Amino acid sequence: MQVKKWLIILAVSAAVLAGVAFLALKSQGIQTLLLDRVSDVFVNRGARTLPASDSLRVFVCGSASPMGNSGQAQACIAVLTPDHFYIVDSGAGSTANLQSGLLPLNRLQGIFLTHFHSDHIAEIYEVNLGSWVNGRPQPLTVYGPTGVETVVAAVNDGYSLDRKYRTDHHGLALLPPEMGVLSAKTVQPGIIFESGDLKVTMYTGGHPPIEPAVGYRFDYRGRSVVVSGDSLVTDETRKISDNTDLLLHDALSEPIVSTMSQAAGEAGRNRISKIMSDVLDYHASATSLIELGARVDIGMVAFYHLVPSVDNIVIKQIFERDMPSNYLLAEDGMWFELPIDSDEIRVSMP
Ligand SMILES: [Zn+2]
Ligand SMILES: [Zn+2]
Repeated sequence: MQVKKWLIILAVSAAVLAGVAFLALKSQGIQTLLLDRVSDVFVNRGARTLPASDSLRVFVCGSASPMGNSGQAQACIAVLTPDHFYIVDSGAGSTANLQSGLLPLNRLQGIFLTHFHSDHIAEIYEVNLGSWVNGRPQPLTVYGPTGVETVVAAVNDGYSLDRKYRTDHHGLALLPPEMGVLSAKTVQPGIIFESGDLKVTMYTGGHPPIEPAVGYRFDYRGRSVVVSGDSLVTDETRKISDNTDLLLHDALSEPIVSTMSQAAGEAGRNRISKIMSDVLDYHASATSLIELGARVDIGMVAFYHLVPSVDNIVIKQIFERDMPSNYLLAEDGMWFELPIDSDEIRVSMP
């Protein structure tokens, strides 16, 4: 009885204190006092930088597909070395993840597009703007298969007024206009370039009926990562991912998508049902990716561009069915660190 009485007193006291704090925050004097503190936090957060590392590093700036409502950003994978920083695709929500992950946007050297579905290109301008504002010293290059010029020309054109407003407002010295204009570079499957110790190779994906669709492999001082974009598992996938450390691949859960498509049909939601059944044959199924790992030599496989996005524990568990121990589901904000002269892959979520 005594314990119950004290618990009631504690609960009432906490409620009174919360009420007093809430009323105090309505006072302009208290707000001004706290604003100094809030400004300090804001300034300090802006000054924080990514810790240096000699490793090949991969950051998940977008792990979701357009299907589902998980709150995760759409397709975006960042690849960094001490001298390089590129992203593969620029899906909705991904620029905010690059910023909160403290990635050095002023150092961004290029975007590799896998294909031109909206969930892979939505934030090309946002990330361009973010890196321009942060002082990127050269125009940003967008690499991609045939079609990239059309996309980049439209982005440059559509945001020409935005660029003008920003330069007019902040000045030529802070925002030189030529740094805000994206440059497009059409590339074909094969080695795209070698820059210092980094080699980037494009390979042909299989995302029928979408063509072209490609993926990329990055090799750096004996470590390697492959990023698929949207693709089935094909012979090209097997070739490019053999003898690679880390494969990030789009992944679809066939049992979930089939069941959802059927349920939508039974509920009379025929448009949704048709779209769901259409996507079944243009993304790699989780099962096909597990088979891939059994046939070729891959250190670790991370499923991203999850179809559907993982917005509850049931979907997560079904996605993880029969997953080997070197497989995982990527999440926004996840880091993979591949130290040089090692086989190790360190996975972390800050
Ligand atoms: Zn696609
Ligand atoms: Zn996609």
